Amino acid sequence: MRAVLATGPGELTVTDLPDPAPAPDGVVIAVRACGICGTDLHLLGGDLGQDRFPLVPGHEPWGEIVAVGADVRGHQAGDLVAVDPSLHCGACDRCRRGQGNMCREWAAIGATTAGAWAELTAVPAANLHRLEPDFPLDAAPLAEPVACAERGLRRLAPQPDQPAVVFGAGTMGLILAILLDARGVGPVTVVDVNPARRQLAARFTGATVAAPADVTGLRAPWVIEATGNPAAFEQALACVDRAGSLLVFGVASPDARAAVSPHRIYADELTIVGSMAILHSFPPAVDTVRRHAGRLAPLVTDRFPLDQVDAALNLVRSGATVKTVLTP
Ligand SMILES: [Zn+2]
Ligand SMILES: [Zn+2]
Repeated sequence: MRAVLATGPGELTVTDLPDPAPAPDGVVIAVRACGICGTDLHLLGGDLGQDRFPLVPGHEPWGEIVAVGADVRGHQAGDLVAVDPSLHCGACDRCRRGQGNMCREWAAIGATTAGAWAELTAVPAANLHRLEPDFPLDAAPLAEPVACAERGLRRLAPQPDQPAVVFGAGTMGLILAILLDARGVGPVTVVDVNPARRQLAARFTGATVAAPADVTGLRAPWVIEATGNPAAFEQALACVDRAGSLLVFGVASPDARAAVSPHRIYADELTIVGSMAILHSFPPAVDTVRRHAGRLAPLVTDRFPLDQVDAALNLVRSGATVKTVLTP
């Protein structure tokens, strides 16, 4: 099969690899599409460690089952499925408390094991979510990012008919803004430093769009930091109204630091929550993508064949795309 292979930091080839076979409890999927996201750029750059290479990246696939392991029940060749990339061990104390995204043996398809920037990918049957025949397939690449957003919104627990502010008009910021609106939370304001990203936010969300300098003094009970930038985090925290909540969703560098006022957190009874990847949120995300496909599907703005992975990555780095997917 053709596959993208990352062999080291910044080193990528499109090559022929042996076709995978299904594990007894797994299946092989012919990948129809698999997204590229910010995590992939960190992975390819070597920020997540050298021990990840060599690796076939790709953790946001959907596709068609083409081979089924001997012990698998309930899935057949020909079924269309989205894949939760989470590989929680299920046995450690955190997994047994229902906190699999904090698993002591944390692993993920396309991050620590072979992923789906390939014609075929082998995955455990437990990670499959069936896409029913009426599923809007042009929105299927968004199942995984929406599952991350759903996890974040469960952590924030925003109330309807109250304003919200999202810092960051990247793919996730736009998805979060759409999902807030779909839950009746609003008005929603999306803030970004980049004029091109603000334009995309205006085009794809019903939100008010603003530059950081334009929201000084704005206060909201529900604020989301979706940039990973420490300066944006500080501004997002300043934006939280008294008794309000901040969701830290963006992936900051592990070394990044930001200034906070403990007195404000005390005196204003602020709540600050984090959200890491997916937890019990993939099934609801598949439902969300189906119900809101009309608003979500247009976010898949760019599609590239495997052989053009370099062009696809350059487009993602440029920021002039919402969701770019590879279509093996
Ligand atoms: Zn991702
Ligand atoms: Zn575990």
